[in-house]
Amino acid sequence: MSKLVAFAAIQGGYNIVSKAEGKLKRAIDKYGPKQEIGFPNTAYYLPVIYSLMGEKVETLADAEPVMKRCRALLPPHVKKDCHTPYLGPLLDAGIAAIFAEEISEAIKYVEEPDFYQPSVEDPDIENGKIWLGAADDAIMRKRGVEFVDGTAPGFAAIVGAAPNPEIAKDIVEEYQKKNLYIFLAANQNGTTVAEQLIEAGVQIGWGTRIVPFGPDISAAVFAVGFANRAGLSFGGIEPGDYKRMLAYQKDRIFAFINALGDVNAEWAANAAGAINWGFPTIADTDIPEVLPWGVCTYEHVVAEVPHDQIVARSIEVRGLKVTVTDIDIPLTYGPAFEGERVRKDDLYLEMGGGKSQMTELLRIADMGAIEDGKVIVKGPDVKDIKKGDTLPLGVFVQVAGREMEEDFEPILERQIHHLINYAQGIMHIGQRDIAWVRVGDGAIERGFSLKDIGTILHAKLHQDFGRIFDKLQVTLMTKQKDVDELTKTAKEVYSARDDRIEGMTDETTDTYYSCTLCQSFAPTHVCAISPERTGLCGAYNWMDCKASYEINPTGPNQPIPKGEVLDEKFGQFKGVNEFIFKASRGKIDHYNFYSIVNDPMTTCGCCECIAAILPSCNGVMTVDRDYIEMTPCGMKFSTLAGTIGGGLSSPGFVGHSKYNVCQRKFIVGDGGFFRMVWMPKHLKEEIKERIIARSTELGDPDFYDRIADETVGTTEEEILPWLQDKKHPALEMESMLG
Ligand code: SF4
Ligand code: ZN
Repeated sequence: MSKLVAFAAIQGGYNIVSKAEGKLKRAIDKYGPKQEIGFPNTAYYLPVIYSLMGEKVETLADAEPVMKRCRALLPPHVKKDCHTPYLGPLLDAGIAAIFAEEISEAIKYVEEPDFYQPSVEDPDIENGKIWLGAADDAIMRKRGVEFVDGTAPGFAAIVGAAPNPEIAKDIVEEYQKKNLYIFLAANQNGTTVAEQLIEAGVQIGWGTRIVPFGPDISAAVFAVGFANRAGLSFGGIEPGDYKRMLAYQKDRIFAFINALGDVNAEWAANAAGAINWGFPTIADTDIPEVLPWGVCTYEHVVAEVPHDQIVARSIEVRGLKVTVTDIDIPLTYGPAFEGERVRKDDLYLEMGGGKSQMTELLRIADMGAIEDGKVIVKGPDVKDIKKGDTLPLGVFVQVAGREMEEDFEPILERQIHHLINYAQGIMHIGQRDIAWVRVGDGAIERGFSLKDIGTILHAKLHQDFGRIFDKLQVTLMTKQKDVDELTKTAKEVYSARDDRIEGMTDETTDTYYSCTLCQSFAPTHVCAISPERTGLCGAYNWMDCKASYEINPTGPNQPIPKGEVLDEKFGQFKGVNEFIFKASRGKIDHYNFYSIVNDPMTTCGCCECIAAILPSCNGVMTVDRDYIEMTPCGMKFSTLAGTIGGGLSSPGFVGHSKYNVCQRKFIVGDGGFFRMVWMPKHLKEEIKERIIARSTELGDPDFYDRIADETVGTTEEEILPWLQDKKHPALEMESMLG
């Protein structure tokens, strides 16, 4: 090993530790030893120190012994006439540097409380607040799980700056394409990759997997801290078990460092520190290499890699497996873009979402009737419109194949949402006839046209479900008349699908199904789907899950043996509890199927409707996604979804499908269907027939006219007298809150 590297890294270790010591001393003088320190909203203290040493640093005083340990870890300086043939001293210097940096960053939170933006996913670029600092636990749980389940193959920690914004953009986009996270820290003479990306018009933040941690090299510790917390929470590693932690990192978290620009002693110390984790450094400059293998899977430090090769070389050196299949569209494509939004200012074209009708339908076809890979666009396309326009859109997918069954239609159809969302610059929300697509300026500049939607669906559905069909053809309609026709057919098909379970009850089967499709947005969320409790997005019922399991036995829909009935009234089952405990990774250990008051089922952001208790009316209201005005519970749908849609059980609120409202088990533990006192007029009209059928069954055929809507009022005070006047049955029921 080169003496030069050892010299630089050890020197850097000394610098970093000395600086941190000074900073700690000044902070104690100024704030006193009892001053609390730590990162916001985390249960993991200073995560690197906590995970490796088992020490809980909560105050400045707690940091002192750790600081002493750092000093003790520093190896003797490298002497001119003697070799340092071992990696050992280098690794120690590196660890000392990383511990010291974690303390420095924690003190920074005290000294400059506004510097980082805690608990947000996206930086506030307009106000120049671009640094996010340590991820809080909510973000870590949501994102960290992706490293464990393979959605994100790893992360690239980029320190420094590229020679220009274009190069920065190229490198980062190539990582995004491969679904890696990109963590940014440090600067090169005051320039940072984060700022270069902003200049090049790249959207940064957790949503696009490009995370600007901080402008100093010490901010690299946030990347390491993130990785260690993943080890603590998903790897089940005990704090202080540094051996298992570091082995876990090397084997499970595929991370590496890209050093862009001149590598100084402090960077070298960080690179040395990262070797402990098995994270190699790949640099664009001519620095001494550390080629022999040993701690990392392959080389430890690789130098002078040209920018157009740095991504490929990094992946190779870290031993990372990424699979990308090219799809012939002008946009970058992959799960990294799933969370990306298209904001109002960048909006070029909008389809659905209340502005126009958008409908998605997938149907089985005869083998001879369609042509595989054919995409037909009927009506105006991107070239025929201008920025700011809206179009109606019908997405009609036809599939044929010997293994294809009608029962599989909804499963394939439900994929449209994330498959379209994976395209950079395109945002997709919803499903069925409440779908919504936004196309950003960036996508148009790259040459996007509607045909690309068909190309994506053809390529990806083949890739994921090719086993069950042979041919797939897509028709995209943008003429109002065609879209209306498709919508009419689609509604009939949807209701026929919904009705297939009409005769079934929860008691007639011992098997329910899970759906974990939404865990990429809401990591703790599990829909447990029984015949009388359909998936809250409205797109999956019990039959669909059964079919989905048949197609893909290791997929997101697994059978759940419901087991012992723990609570008949509220609908709680032992087998379900055990399943959700595992599937939520220990975060949720039980919930009730038939209650909004007592531990209701978890909710994710794509539910069709959200019900909420209205205490003074002794009942509940529900609101669907299309109703954007205020509701009597004091919140709009968007606020409700934002508040409870993160995958938690929120007593008083529950997400559900439109269909579920009139299913017999709807909140039956709390009094059932007759608790419904308010819903938006258009929703009421949409499900009118089923409301009447259900209330007739319950002995009150006129109940439909007793449900208030926005024409009656949008506050509890406004609707209560009306409900009294109409003799709404909820007012006679026992108190909802017990
Ligand atoms: Fe599955 Fe539930 Fe998400 Fe629908 S809302 S896709 S049923 S997890
Ligand atoms: Zn969801």
